[in-house]
Formats: sequence, structure tokens, C-alpha cells
Amino acid sequence: MVTVDPKAGPKYIYRFTEGNAQMRELLGGKGANLAEMTNMGLHVPPGFTVTTEACMAYLTLGKWPEGLEGEVEEHLGELEASMGKRLGDPDDPLLVSVRSGAKYSMPGMMDTVLNLGLNDASVLGLAQQSGGDRRFALDSYRRFIHMFAKIVMGVPGEEFENILEAYKTRKGERAQDTDLDANDLDSLLREFRITYKEHVGAEFPQDPRAQLSLAIEAVFKSWNGKRARDYRRQNKISDDLGTAVNVVAMVFGNRGMDSGTGVAFTRDPASGEKIPYGDYLPNAQGEDVVAGIRNTLRLQDLKDLDPKSYSELRRAMDTLERHYRDMCDIEFTIERGKLWILQTRVGKRTAFAEWVMAYDMLDEGLINEDEALLRVDANRLEQLFKPVIKADVKATASSIAKGLNASPGAAVGKVVFSADEAEELGQRGEPVILVRRETTPDDYHGMIRSQGILTSAGGTNSHAAVVARGEGIPAVCGADAIKIDPTSRSFSANGTTVADGEFVTIDGFDGAVYVGKLELEESKLERARKGDEVARKEKIWAAFYRLMGHADHARRLRVRANADTPEQARNARERGAEGIGLCRTEHMFLGERAAAVRKMILASTREEEEDAYAQLLPLQRDDFVGIFRAMDGLPVTVRLLDPPLHEFLPDRVELTDKVARAEEKREEEVGLRDETLSLEEAKRLLAKVNELTEANPMLGLRGVRLGILKSGLYAMQVRAILEAACRVRKEGGDPKVEIMIPLVATREELRQMREELEPVACEILSREGVELSHLEWGTMIEVPRAAVTAREIAEVADFFSFGTNDLTQMSFGFSRDDIGKFLGMYELRKLVPENPFVTIDRPGVGRLMQMGTEEGRAGNEQLHVGICGEHGGDPASVAFCHEINLDYVSCSPFRVETARLAAAQAALGDLSRASGRAEKRDV
Ligand code: PEP
Ligand code: MG
Repeated sequence: MVTVDPKAGPKYIYRFTEGNAQMRELLGGKGANLAEMTNMGLHVPPGFTVTTEACMAYLTLGKWPEGLEGEVEEHLGELEASMGKRLGDPDDPLLVSVRSGAKYSMPGMMDTVLNLGLNDASVLGLAQQSGGDRRFALDSYRRFIHMFAKIVMGVPGEEFENILEAYKTRKGERAQDTDLDANDLDSLLREFRITYKEHVGAEFPQDPRAQLSLAIEAVFKSWNGKRARDYRRQNKISDDLGTAVNVVAMVFGNRGMDSGTGVAFTRDPASGEKIPYGDYLPNAQGEDVVAGIRNTLRLQDLKDLDPKSYSELRRAMDTLERHYRDMCDIEFTIERGKLWILQTRVGKRTAFAEWVMAYDMLDEGLINEDEALLRVDANRLEQLFKPVIKADVKATASSIAKGLNASPGAAVGKVVFSADEAEELGQRGEPVILVRRETTPDDYHGMIRSQGILTSAGGTNSHAAVVARGEGIPAVCGADAIKIDPTSRSFSANGTTVADGEFVTIDGFDGAVYVGKLELEESKLERARKGDEVARKEKIWAAFYRLMGHADHARRLRVRANADTPEQARNARERGAEGIGLCRTEHMFLGERAAAVRKMILASTREEEEDAYAQLLPLQRDDFVGIFRAMDGLPVTVRLLDPPLHEFLPDRVELTDKVARAEEKREEEVGLRDETLSLEEAKRLLAKVNELTEANPMLGLRGVRLGILKSGLYAMQVRAILEAACRVRKEGGDPKVEIMIPLVATREELRQMREELEPVACEILSREGVELSHLEWGTMIEVPRAAVTAREIAEVADFFSFGTNDLTQMSFGFSRDDIGKFLGMYELRKLVPENPFVTIDRPGVGRLMQMGTEEGRAGNEQLHVGICGEHGGDPASVAFCHEINLDYVSCSPFRVETARLAAAQAALGDLSRASGRAEKRDV
């Protein structure tokens, strides 16, 4: 906490000249960057920042913390002095904007009030000071009343929007807000004030200082607004940070056609190319761009409109990009030909663009290789492999509308018109495309459940576009041919009508909209990955290839894959897997093989059981041959059978019912899902199913317990594994075999199993006359007792692999199959920080892992340790595995690249921490 003097309490306000870009925590991203730009000498309007600490103090106390009021007064006085104007002065008023700005950017999630300081008297002064421009003054006042009423007093915004719409309609069919003249605005303002009074029960406040206090308070409170909380939950931002409040002298983009406002990106945030990109809206204020009130011009159009301001802006863009050494996103306003920079931040970009930018900036020498690697987000890497519309389908399909390519990727889904519907259908697993005129932050919950977003208004920086890009959802915005008709729940575009529930396809790469389900295909990167020569010429492939090469060089953790078939193993290897960390053999027992498994389960004599094993062995052996070939020279961890046997048997209730009915109707046969049994066989099966039924199967006869009870089972599996390895070895291959026994809780379980199974392996090797370069025996650590007693278990193990799915289940006592029922509530009430089945719970499960690893290595110096639960492909969990010094992570084949990258970033993070450079990047 920053304090000036311990007795005086915390300092709650900083001038822009006092801050810098490093002070994001205290000043919020916006405040810190305003300070940085001020100190760089850029043309920023003066102002001050109320700290995030003031916000948190206000939210905790429920009132202004002591000293804050005085500080506001003091800084406002300074601002008035520097501008030579007083807030609300009837002759020449100072006006300010009050803007939220948290440590991490939360676009549109919190509130901003512009033109504060206007009242019935100062609006006249403003008109006079602007050369008698009454229209401009009244336009500013109507915006202020609207914003203040909505944001500070909670009056529904539509109340004012409807009045404005009515005035525009009266003016003409295609009239815009800029077509309203001073007289229109004068009478509109009267209606605004009446509406305000009706809703608030008091006149619109005329005291500018009261306006300011109320607005600051409203911004504080917006930190806890629903949409801000939803956004934080989705983006894993802590609730304890609070927002800063920036009070900035107003500059006006609505002073005529020589004024305007816009957003500029130093590079294209969608494609990543080094081309200035953005929107400009003449004669407008900032919120018009975001709200999509009018369709914007392209930034390049400003070059013709106002070449001087454009070249000044380009210079500022270059300066900022060089200063931040990254792509910047800049909000600017031009007031009567004079350029003002209102905000900058390191710009959000698509998953695609971040690779292209990192690669280009590395090439340009702006950043080094490590930095380039830290610039790409492992959580979003999978997106790059996402589908696009099939090229030949695209060539012949005709689009019904064209909008802006706001967020890349193609999406197919049913049309819905409200965020609530999108959420409801999306949660049921139905693909939806949310179609709106424009979106607002209140739509966020539905947007994140949609496959794609389509809006008829708004530019590339509208709310819809910004959110979609951030969430990796394809979006087409500003498709103005689309007319939505809420009454018939349909939209029409160029003569085609599409009803609610019909399928559409959108292409977020070029902005096209199609009726129906278009066939999608692999992305450029996916094609390049698979060897397509044309795709390999694309920059995204060069970027991926170069940075992943560096990732493999930088990481310490090895990356293996969880693969059960030769096909999966090949896929994993192509993606850079360095072995298999988990081959689940139960998946080999499905389909037609289930009959042989059932025979084994139903066997009542040793002979019958052996017979079943004899049937299963060659099937298993062939699977392993394929896997060892695909992973030649790399380790393959095969897990012996784990799940409860009843999973291979028919459903108990259904079988009971069918047997009872057959008996009642005196039928000879019982038809099951995929076979028909005689009544006698069915009864025998039912008896066995009843015998095997357990109250709690996940804690029942599974894992090593099954191996102990059915000793022939594991021996058969070991035989199949070893015979397969011998065959591949004789072919000239180098199978590296690791045999893993699941669910071990005691040293003795593992010891006895090894004692039983190792001779089986030795016998095969000597019979075949083969020596393997690598044959190890180990266990999963997936029950808490095993983690706690790891030292003694390690004495009889060559390796450990953390089964964090079961370890999480058993540590929390949460059923991994049912957590969906209560997880949402748990996250909402912050009973868990996030889903522990996705990201390792560091204090609990993580601690068990750390203990297991350290104790295990203390018991056996040679022990190697990995993880094979789902967490092995989650970047945050991979970072944890790096920290506790595991040897490898193992994840699904599709996440191998993600894990390679996350492992490298964890290693580089370690290095930067060691050299004091640790800093989480923000946008
Ligand atoms: C685990 O429990 O983490 C694991 C990998 O095994 P399974 O998911 O098959 O239970
Ligand atoms: Mg398990």
C-alpha cells in the first residue's frame, strides 16, 4: 500500500504527472498509461486518478474513506487552475469525463460518464465558449443527462434512446443523431429532464460537485455490477482488485465535421499484419464508436478527411509502439483539428494475430526470442487449429449479407435473438449464433455460450467485436443489410428471411453471412501442420514453426500424450509428443471385444477364465504392436485395467426389468441392446450383475484391487504387452515399455503385483530371446494415501504418474462425473477459485503432488515422475508441474502443442523471476 505519511492515511489520488505504466495495480491500466503518456510528452488532456485502493475502501466501508473527499477537492482545484476554468462555471465551464479503469482491461464492463459539469446554466456558457455553437453544447448536455441517469442513477437507458429515436424518425427516415439541430435538441432535453424526474423522483442535479461525487461512487460500485462480476469469473480476474477512477478534462469530438473520435491499433488485431487499423467517426463522442450508433469510417479514411491529424496520429502510434514494444490500441479525439490521445493500452488481439505479431516483432528486432514466446497465449493455441468454411463450398455459396470480419473462425448455429436464449440453448449443447443489432455488456452471458455472433450495426471495435475477439468466438459485425424484426422473431437481408431457430453460417475471416449449415474444414495452421505445402507458405506457419522450435529449446518438462490407439499415438507424435504417458487399456475392451470380456467376468471355473484370456490376448497384443511401432524409440506407459467390471455388463435395472417381463410372458429369449440371450443366460447374467453391483463403484473393485482379485487378468495383459514389444524389437524397432499399475494405495499392493508380474515378463523375454532397452514398473499416484506414503511406495516403483482426475476426486470428495451440478454455485460463492478438475488445486491436490514427488524421490533417487490426469494439458497446471519439478506432463494428443508451449513459458517465467523481471503482461 502506498502511503504518504502513516498518520495521514493512504494517498488516494495521483496526478497524471505522478504515475507511470508500472503502477497498474494502484492506478488501473488506463490511469497508469495516461500517466505514462503524459510523461512521454504526448498530447493527453490533464487529469487525475482515484486509486483502486480508494475503490476497495469505499466498497468495504460502504462510504467514502476518510480523506478522499478532501483529496478530490484539492485535485479538482489543481485541474481547474491548470485549465483556467471552473467545474460548472456558468460562463466558461470545465467539463470532465469520469472513467473506470481496472488493473486488467475489462472492456465495457464498468462505467464511464462524459461531459460532467454541465447544468442548465453552464450549457449556455459552453455554447458561448464554443463560438456560439448551441447545437454542440446541447448535444453534449443530452449525452450527459442520458449517461448520468443510466449509469449513476440506474434509469433504463432505453427510456432516453426511445426519445432520441423518435426525434430522429421525425426528422426523416434515414436521419442520424447529427441531423438534429439546436431546436430539436432543446426540446429533446426538456423531455430528457422530465423522464429523469419521473424515474429518479428529483430534478436533474445542478451542482457539478455533487455530480462528480455521485459519478465517482457509481464507477466504484460498477466494480461489483453483474456484468463486471461475470466477466471476472470468465477471465479469472480477482474480485479484490477494484477499479480506479480517472477524472479527465473533456475534449470534444462532437464539435462539427472537423472533429471526431476513433480507435486506432498500431497493427491489425485480427490478422496481426503491420498495417494501421481502426475506426473513425466524425462529429461524435467516444461512446458512439463502441455502441455502434452510426457505422464508422475506416481509420485510413481520416487521411483524406484531416491529413494533418492523421499524420500526427501515425507518429503517436509509432512512438507508442516503440515505447511499449508491442501493439497498442489507442483512443483518440480530434477537436477542431487538434489531436488528443485519450487512452492507450497494449491491444487485445486474436489468437492468430498474436503469433504473427510476435514473429514480426522478433524479426524487426523489437523483441527477443524469449519475449516473443511469452507474447503468445497457450490457452488460445488450440483455437488456431479451428475450422474454416470449406474452400469449394465457400466458392459456390452466396452470402446473404456482408459485415466486418470482427473475429476469426467460421461458425454454424441456430439463430437466436437474445442473450438469454443463447445462454439457455448453449448450455444444452446446441450450437447457436446470436444475432443482434449490436450487443451491450449485458449480453455477455449469452455471447460466451454462442458459436458465433452476428450484428447488423457497429464497427470492428464495437462491444460485440471486442468481446468476441477476446473470447475466441467468431463474429461478423456491422452487417447492415440485416434487418431484425423482433415481432416476427426473424431477420431479413437482401430479400431472404431467416427465422429464429434456422441455421446460419458466419465467416469471421471475411465477414460473410450464409443461410444454412455450410461445411467447415481445417484451418491454415492445421493444414500446414499436416504437411500441405501451400499452407506452409503462410506466415502463421513460419511463426508457429519458429516459436515452437524455441519453446522446445526453452522448456525443461517433457511432454507426452495420453493415447490408446496407434492412430492417436501417431497423431500425438506428429504434434511433438515425446512418448505416451497413459495408454488406458480398458478402451481396448470395448465394441466387439466386450463379449470376450464378459466371458471372463462370467467365468465360473479357472478354465473358462483362461479361455477368455486366451481370446483377449491376441487382440490386445495387436493393439500394442501398433502403438509401439508408432512410438518407436519413445517411452510408452501402459496402464493395466482400471475401471470396475460392471461397466462391461448391461445396465442392472434394464436387465432386471427385461428378465421379469420375459418370465411373466413366458418368453424363451431376452433381447438386449445389441444381442439376444436365452432366458437362462439372461438370468445368469443378471445374477452376476447383481453380485458385482457396488454402492460406490469408483471406490470399489477397480485398479490394482481388480488385478489382485483376478490375477490372470493382469498377467494376460503383461504377456500381451511383452509379446508385442518382442515382435517390434525383432522387426528392428526399439519399444520402450513402462507398465503402470493403477490406484495403488499401499507399498505392499505394488510389491506383490510386481512379484507376480515380473516373472511373466521375464519368461516371455527369455522365450523370445529378446532384450528391451527400457522396461520399467510403476504406479499411478491417484489416491491421497499413496501421495502421503510415496517414500515407501517409491522403493518398489521405477516411476510415478499422478492421476490427478482421481486424486482431485478423492481429495475433495467431489464425484468427477457429477460436479457439473454444483460447480457453478461453488464458483459463484467462491468456494473454489476455479474448477479443480481443470486446473490443479495448488493448496490441496497440488500439495499432495509436491509431497508425493519429494517423498518419492527421497525413497528412490532414480524415480521419474509425471502427470497423466486431464490437468496435463492445462497451461496453469503445466506451470505448476514445472514448479514442483516433475519430469513430464501427459495430455490429450490435441493439447500436446499447448503443453509444449506452456512448459516453455513456465521455464522462461522462472528465468525472468530469477532475474527480477517477473511481470504478468496485461492488455
Ligand atoms: C486419473 O485419475 O487422473 C487418470 C488419468 O485416470 P482415469 O482418468 O482413467 O481414472
Ligand atoms: Mg484414475
